[in-house]
Amino acid sequence: NTPVRDRLRIAIQKSGRLAEPARALLASCGLSWRESRDRLFCYGESLPIDLLLVRDDDIPGLIADGVCDLGIVGRNVLLEQDGGRSGNGRPSVYREWRALGFGGCRLALAVPDSWDWQGPEQLAGKRIATSYPALLSRWLEEQGIAADVVLLSGSVEIAPRLGQAEAICDLVSSGATLTANQLKPVMTLLESEAVLAGPSTEFDPVRGELADLLLRRLDGALRIRHSKLLMFQAPRSLLPSLLPLLPDAEAPTVMRLDDGDDLALQALCHGAVTWQRLEELKRAGARGLMVLPVEGMLA
Ligand code: ATP
Ligand code: MG
Repeated sequence: NTPVRDRLRIAIQKSGRLAEPARALLASCGLSWRESRDRLFCYGESLPIDLLLVRDDDIPGLIADGVCDLGIVGRNVLLEQDGGRSGNGRPSVYREWRALGFGGCRLALAVPDSWDWQGPEQLAGKRIATSYPALLSRWLEEQGIAADVVLLSGSVEIAPRLGQAEAICDLVSSGATLTANQLKPVMTLLESEAVLAGPSTEFDPVRGELADLLLRRLDGALRIRHSKLLMFQAPRSLLPSLLPLLPDAEAPTVMRLDDGDDLALQALCHGAVTWQRLEELKRAGARGLMVLPVEGMLA
């Protein structure tokens, strides 16, 4: 039996699309690390929370084996390795704690531009190339369609031109790769983004407490990511026309200036505070508009 670990270990991608944003997000939660010489391990300094830097495909397995407690990985990878999720009635191995708002993409079915797409029935008896056999098979099963799943580990989009398959099922973000290969997306099987994942089982008390602390900070960090503090002054009489213009603001703080009719307002805005919004507020009578970044928030 391995001794109980009193540190939390999080697996993140070593290099690739999710590597930088994952690290930046954890750093914004107040974590800092000392990196090992081989750059595979980051020892937590501010908190006993360490990072393991790995290939993204290895992250679900590391969580399932208990080598890591948490991981930041695309939902697509997590669900694929979870067997397309609850496929054979099996309970899921993983728990998605939070969606993190980066690494957005979708797992889509794409067919040649020349196809006159009518619906999934057209796939019957066809070969579909993919790196996501579990998710694709599960979807085909749900649709009641018998098709051949051709497993390819990469360059899935050229399979139709090479005659390996008639259709593909692959990750799409802008769709440019599909267009370049004379393919068109016709169905979305999964909306994906980076998620914080853990095992479906409970943590022991020590690591459970560390995980709770991290989740609380993460929620604060995720909330303020697009938040700004908006400050301005305005006469009290104009408030009814100004308040509806505040983008997704929480109840603003209102302070009286001197003993006149003038007010100073502060509002935490969660939507984008665009130039257009500021101009609208100014036209409606706001003065001294100022937008400030929010460094931290603990609800
Ligand atoms: P690794 O070397 O870690 O195995 P990788 O090449 O498998 O890296 P990346 O290309 O860095 O992985 O993609 C990681 C994740 O980024 C994907 O699993 C997916 O969740 C997300 N992602 C977002 N947009 C795209 C896209 N257009 N194509 C592929 N993945 C995308
Ligand atoms: Mg990978």
